[in-house]
Amino acid sequence: MPDRSDAAPEIVEPIDLPDRPFTARNLADYHQCPQRFLLSWFVPREELRKFVGGPLALQGAVRQALVDCYRLGGPSEVPPERLVALFGETWDGSVCSDSLEEERLYSLGAKLLREYHATIAAQPQEVLEVDPRLEVECGGHRFVAAADLILREPDGGVNALRWLSTRTPPSAAEIFDSTGWGLLFACLRERYPNEDVSVTMVSLRRGGGHRVRFSDDELEALLRRARRVADRIRVATQFPARPDSHCRLCVARGRCPALV
Ligand code: SF4
Repeated sequence: MPDRSDAAPEIVEPIDLPDRPFTARNLADYHQCPQRFLLSWFVPREELRKFVGGPLALQGAVRQALVDCYRLGGPSEVPPERLVALFGETWDGSVCSDSLEEERLYSLGAKLLREYHATIAAQPQEVLEVDPRLEVECGGHRFVAAADLILREPDGGVNALRWLSTRTPPSAAEIFDSTGWGLLFACLRERYPNEDVSVTMVSLRRGGGHRVRFSDDELEALLRRARRVADRIRVATQFPARPDSHCRLCVARGRCPALV
């Protein structure tokens, strides 16, 4: 047994993975800090909550309000006051740093939802799926990605949307370089073969977004990267800790051997 006092990585058996697909977050965790991947793979729900914070709580509640709204028939059926009420039902201000932040983020969430509702309520939308979990198999691994909404667009294409409330949403170039968006595109293509598929980042703060289609080459490069990390995880027996500034927001820091 290695000496834990020198923060040496504990040697473990390769973890049993077959029934659990990888998310882009899992791959990023392993890439950044293998110990973080290992610990977050088993992180309990209560522990996750400690690291949520105001902006993430806002994102979660805004997203859930829109998902619930579409489950009730969409913005053409759900008035803006009801949409804001749905937001209030999920909003957990207790994770904010203080009551000022809590108030500010609640008002911001309500404002973003009202503005978004005003933009889309009158638009005809053909909804294919609300809040689906999508999977794709690739190189002997299963990957999973979540969309908020899948629409049949007026141009005939199938478009998977994600709503973001973040201050600095990703640029189109960042989306093209993102394993998370690439996996969503690959999963969507698997679910809707022979369709013109696309993925769209909707920035609620900016009132716009980017609709993206990956070329075969672009997608293959991202999937190769994902496969490479998944290959390494599958055979890994050591998960060393790599402490850095990213530790501040690590969901596993309470159990990290490098920090005790
Ligand atoms: S606290 Fe830092 S070193 Fe420890 S698992 Fe998290 S990211 Fe890795």
